[in-house]
Amino acid sequence: MAEQMLGRPVAEALYAEVAKRVGALREEHVHPRLALVRVGEDQANGSYERTVLKRADEVGIAVEVRALAADVNKLALYADIEGINADARTHACLMFRPLPHTLDEMTACNMIASEKDVDGVGAASLAGVFMGLPEGFAPCTAEACVRMLDFYGVELAGKHVVVVGRSLVVGKPAAMLMLARDATVTLCHSGTTGLPEIMRAADIVVCATGNARTFGAECFCAGQVVLDVGTNIDADGVFCGDVDFAAVEPVVERITPVPGGIGAVTTAVLLQHVVEAAERTR
Ligand code: NDP
Repeated sequence: MAEQMLGRPVAEALYAEVAKRVGALREEHVHPRLALVRVGEDQANGSYERTVLKRADEVGIAVEVRALAADVNKLALYADIEGINADARTHACLMFRPLPHTLDEMTACNMIASEKDVDGVGAASLAGVFMGLPEGFAPCTAEACVRMLDFYGVELAGKHVVVVGRSLVVGKPAAMLMLARDATVTLCHSGTTGLPEIMRAADIVVCATGNARTFGAECFCAGQVVLDVGTNIDADGVFCGDVDFAAVEPVVERITPVPGGIGAVTTAVLLQHVVEAAERTR
């Protein structure tokens, strides 16, 4: 039976640190503030929004929700982002995605000032991750993977990490963050041939594909550490990861469950980025 790497203790440790840093900032009359931009109503974002609001409140971070109509035109969205960029009281901006197809998501992402881009969606933030420069912020879920391993004492240096999924939200930045920590990284995708064999050769496997329970016992072996980033709803309406947990958990050494794994850490990393954005303004 594998040891389950739960997200909650990792998140709680991060929240405790964030609350302390918020307290220190307040003594200097700096009040960390996040602007949350939402276009239209989306069920998945709705639950993430409620979690962010609750957790931010608990650690003393103010959140301003800027809800825009689903049919907002692109100029109004851009004006909203520019308003956030220009507002010295607001340290951070989180824009929920995907945006409606009528809007140009890449342009909107790149409009967020890099020093407020706490979700790491703009080109400057991604350049920072890829170049190892302190520009913007890393995408929260990619960083959450590294935080999870650090918390549970899993060393990255010298390890072979296989990342399955190459999006700019998770796979690519996670690969770069782990490479920066001296892991040897193999980045896989839907065109990878012999994927189970490649996965079995890893010390650490990160699954971020968005396919419910796709990776079974044939993809893993004893001694491995598995991070399951996937958040999927299966055919029966059950929330699950990319990994077939019941089949894989008896095989590997450590594994993150879904729910209860990476997701909780992602929100904590977001709020840590907000406090850091506020600290950088001092
Ligand atoms: P994308 O759809 O943007 O990317 C999926 C990636 O997985 C692509 O690179 C794709 O390859 C690859 N892929 C798809 N199917 C397979 C397969 N069968 N074998 C190998 N590779 C495959 O998704 P995201 O990166 O945005 O998200 C991935 C998952 O992580 C989703 O379940 C999402 O909900 C979850 N997620 C969870 C978060 C959290 O906080 N826990 C936050 C963000 C995402 P190709 O490039 O060739 O198409």
